[in-house]
Amino acid sequence: MPRGGARGTARDIPSATVGRLITYLRVLNGLESRGVTRVSSDLLAEEAQVSAFQVRKDLAYFGTFGTRGTGYTVSSLKGELKRILGLTRPWRVAIVGMGRLGQALADYPGLSEYDFELVAAFDVDERKLGTRHGTVVVRHMSELAAAVGDLGIEIVLLTVPVRAAQEAADAVVRAGVRGILNFAPTVVSVPPGVQVEPVDFLAALKRVSYFLHEEAAAAEEEVS
Ligand code: NAD
Repeated sequence: MPRGGARGTARDIPSATVGRLITYLRVLNGLESRGVTRVSSDLLAEEAQVSAFQVRKDLAYFGTFGTRGTGYTVSSLKGELKRILGLTRPWRVAIVGMGRLGQALADYPGLSEYDFELVAAFDVDERKLGTRHGTVVVRHMSELAAAVGDLGIEIVLLTVPVRAAQEAADAVVRAGVRGILNFAPTVVSVPPGVQVEPVDFLAALKRVSYFLHEEAAAAEEEVS
């Protein structure tokens, strides 16, 4: 899309670009907390560890924010990125599966810093019902549909075992939730219009091991 053209939507922005916009927003938050009010694409690029060309290309999706030579105003670029990323209001989040991971996420206070408000938690284990973690008290899954309506739950963090993932995802979708962050290491099927984002730190760890292994193999080849 040309600079200054019509504003992009999430649908026509490549997912890699969306990932970098989130990084730029984190960088801008850091700059703002250090009292920096203007930022060049060079500095933004350096802090985000991408090229300045990439920064300009990414921001060009949404029209012109900066002025050539003087860069961007941190607060307005931050505001634009938040608008593009749908972060101008808090999103209401629930956790389904209050085991080790679900409890750790509920106890983590950082969610609200990123405009996500944890409003409920669910499980099927009677022993967990009624226990408090962070701001939420665990409810039974049978209360999910009513709670989605009452509390306006929009996104679910799915932290159930693999064997329960599809069944729990189905219940979440039936309850009317359209966003799922799936921590269970399995693919869950959802109907069109529901966004599932997988999170797998073990897969990321395997990628690190692959790159370390590749480097070691390359070094060995050089020696021999
Ligand atoms: P856990 O066994 O401690 O907790 C799972 C919880 O889900 C339990 O409390 C159980 O009662 C509940 N549950 C089971 N069926 C349910 C259902 N139908 N509806 C609602 N709740 C249900 O497991 P954990 O160690 O917390 O791990 C949870 C999931 O996260 C697993 O799938 C695990 O593989 C995965 N995991 C992912 C990552 C990651 O990086 N993505 C990291 C760690 C664990």
